[in-house]
Amino acid sequence: MSHIKSNLDKLSREIPQDVQVVAVTKTRTEAEIMEAYEHGHRAFGENKVQEIKDKHPHLPEDIRWHFIGHLQTNKVKYIAPFVDMIHSADRLKVLKEINKQAARFERTISCLLQFHIAEEDSKFGFNMAEVEEMLGSSTFATLKNIRVDGVMGMATFTTDMDQIRREFRQLKGFYSQLKEGHFRHTSHFKEVSMGMTNDYQIAIEEGSTMVRIGSAIFGPRPVKT
Ligand SMILES: *Cc1c(COP(=O)(O)O)cnc(C)c1O
Repeated sequence: MSHIKSNLDKLSREIPQDVQVVAVTKTRTEAEIMEAYEHGHRAFGENKVQEIKDKHPHLPEDIRWHFIGHLQTNKVKYIAPFVDMIHSADRLKVLKEINKQAARFERTISCLLQFHIAEEDSKFGFNMAEVEEMLGSSTFATLKNIRVDGVMGMATFTTDMDQIRREFRQLKGFYSQLKEGHFRHTSHFKEVSMGMTNDYQIAIEEGSTMVRIGSAIFGPRPVKT
């Protein structure tokens, strides 16, 4: 059995059934993706528009594509026809554009609100005040072709596991606050997308419902030079 299949088996033994595994396929070949597909995996994630746009026509239609990277408004149109969920909705402007493009294709696109939880400035995302303001705005109320299913965040790139745990706990706290305050009767608002290869165990302990895992499935990515 290939390492991709055995890695998936290992993860499925380790990860609770109710936590979804999104297999992150950036830099991976179609052959590698097909190995995971043939093993029964269906949820795949990409972080670059160009890459997901190029790959998706060559791959089976029943793949559920998750977009997990920073999204520029002028590129939403390329993924709107087929993407299942966008994890990286980090400003009202991009949600408006996702709504507009989803409407053009007569679709509803599930989105997660990306929060900035890391110490680094470089990671995109809302803070709680911005989300509260957006959810209360009249513009937001007109967006009928998006569905807000939960939150997403990326922890600081560090070996300090306590810090990572604190950041995930904060994200789960934001989720609970929003659930209570805005989405109490919205059954599909239930996702907390957090955890990658190096921190998914902590993320699951802190209440993750979706982990985005690349290297632990497909092996280490070639280092950029
Ligand atoms: C690359 C990436 C992942 C997966 O990273 P691994 O460390 O390979 O598991 C998860 N989330 C996002 C947003 C990514 O860009």
